[in-house]
Amino acid sequence: MIKIDKIAKYPLSFTKGTPNQRRELASCLNFKFFKDISTKFKSKDVSFDVFQKTLDEAIPFPHNITVIKNDEKKGFLTACVNDECNIVNGYNMGIPPNSFSGEIPLTTADIFMHESAHYFSFMTNPKMVARIAKMFESGTYLKTQNFYNTVLYSKNKLSSFEISQKLDEFLQTLTVKERIDFLQNSRYRLTDEIFAYKEGAKYQDLIQKIHSDKICCKVDAVDYCDYDFETKIKIVEQKLIKELKNARAVKS
Ligand SMILES: [Zn+2]
Repeated sequence: MIKIDKIAKYPLSFTKGTPNQRRELASCLNFKFFKDISTKFKSKDVSFDVFQKTLDEAIPFPHNITVIKNDEKKGFLTACVNDECNIVNGYNMGIPPNSFSGEIPLTTADIFMHESAHYFSFMTNPKMVARIAKMFESGTYLKTQNFYNTVLYSKNKLSSFEISQKLDEFLQTLTVKERIDFLQNSRYRLTDEIFAYKEGAKYQDLIQKIHSDKICCKVDAVDYCDYDFETKIKIVEQKLIKELKNARAVKS
């Protein structure tokens, strides 16, 4: 079974509380990182080295996060596992560079503060990381990733009814255990996307206000309304309630 190393999660004494309290903690940690990184913009860009160092300094407790240049114009956050594939021992954070300077522009705060929000969410929610790791190990993650990306984390214009129908069809291809893991994980991931997009948008505005002298025009944060995460979370929750009820009925 994949374990989560102590450098890939915060101590329980630090993260204990309700899910809302943990979310609040992740938000506070992200704010601390923002305050630090904002002061490092002496021009409109900051180097990857400075970004990495500032992130390391803003993170409490021993940790392992590597910031990577991602030329695909988008950010990502992934967990790293050791060679034996049995311990999550850190995270990789992909950040897109400016194609001319190769550095990180302040007008991409919506991307880097989104990814740092995900990072602090993971660090304060080790149970969620454990579930993802478990799904990865059992193969459920690979089996469900395409559906998650094309129907749930996608901008397609499906009606609630169509999403619900597609989800029903897809769930039929999974075992009861896989269905419950997938639905619980999707609920967490979609909820975390709302959190990360909100954090990104908040700091995209704030950083451009603070450094208005360094930019020629304001760049709006990525618009995430088209993903309609709220509707999808509701649908996922309804299916999850049904699955859990059925599983309980079978057991008793
Ligand atoms: Zn995200």
